[in-house]
Amino acid sequence: MIAENLTRIREKIALHCDNSGRNADDIKLIAVTKYFGTDIIEEAISAGITDFGENKAQELNLKYEKLGNKVTWHFIGTLQKNKVKYAVKAAELIHSVDSIELADEIDARAGKLSKIQKILLEVNTSSEESKSGLITEDDVFRLAEQCNKKNNLELSGLMTMAPFTDDEKVIRNSFSSLRSLKEKLFKNGFTKITELSMGMTNDYELAVDEGATMLRIGSAIFGERDYSKDWREI
Ligand SMILES: *Cc1c(COP(=O)(O)O)cnc(C)c1O
Repeated sequence: MIAENLTRIREKIALHCDNSGRNADDIKLIAVTKYFGTDIIEEAISAGITDFGENKAQELNLKYEKLGNKVTWHFIGTLQKNKVKYAVKAAELIHSVDSIELADEIDARAGKLSKIQKILLEVNTSSEESKSGLITEDDVFRLAEQCNKKNNLELSGLMTMAPFTDDEKVIRNSFSSLRSLKEKLFKNGFTKITELSMGMTNDYELAVDEGATMLRIGSAIFGERDYSKDWREI
C-alpha cells in the first residue's frame, strides 16, 4: 500500500511541478511517521523514502535508537525546552523554532555535540490562535538575526501549517505569504534562507504550486493514524 500511495503522490507532485514550471528534484518529500512504528518505516525505506518527520521528541528518540542514521530525521512538532536534547541528537533539521529561548537551548545542545544544527523558523501564516509560530514579520526578522549570531545554528528556511479550511484561496494565501517572506529575508541578506517547508496530505499540491521545497506528508502515505496509541508502545 505504501509503495502505491507514494507512486500516486509522486505523480501529483510531478504534475504540479510541470504546471508551475518547477523541477520535482527541488522538492523533498518528508514522510511523517508519528503514531507509526519502525516496521512501517522499514516498509517506507524499501519504497524509496529517505526522510522521515516526527512531531514528538521522545517518539523520535525511540525510533532513532532503533534506526539511527539509516534515515534522515526531521523534527516538525512543538518542542519543549527539556526535550531539545532528543531532537538535536537525531534530527538533521528542526522545522519548528519560534522563540529565542528555544533557539538558545538548541544552540547550547548542538554545541555539546559539536554539531551545527540546521533549523527553520515556524511562521503562523493563518493567524489561528491555536497554531504555534511567529506571527509578525518583525518577529521573524528579529529571530532570524538572533539565530544568525549563534555559533551552532544554521537557519536554512521557513515552515508553516496552512489553516484548517476547504477554501483553496485561503490556503494558497498562507503558502504564498510564506514564500514572500522568504524572498524578503533573502533580499535583506539572509541568503541561506532557501527552504520552504509547507504542504501536508490535504494541501501539498497547492504547496507545490506556491513554491514548497519540503512537503510533510503522513496519512496520504500511511493511512489514518490511530491516535489512541501510546508512543511508548510504538
Ligand atoms: C502530522 C503532521 C504532518 C502530516 O500530516 P498529514 O495530514 O497526515 O499529512 C505535517 N506537519 C506536521 C507539523 C504534523 O504534525
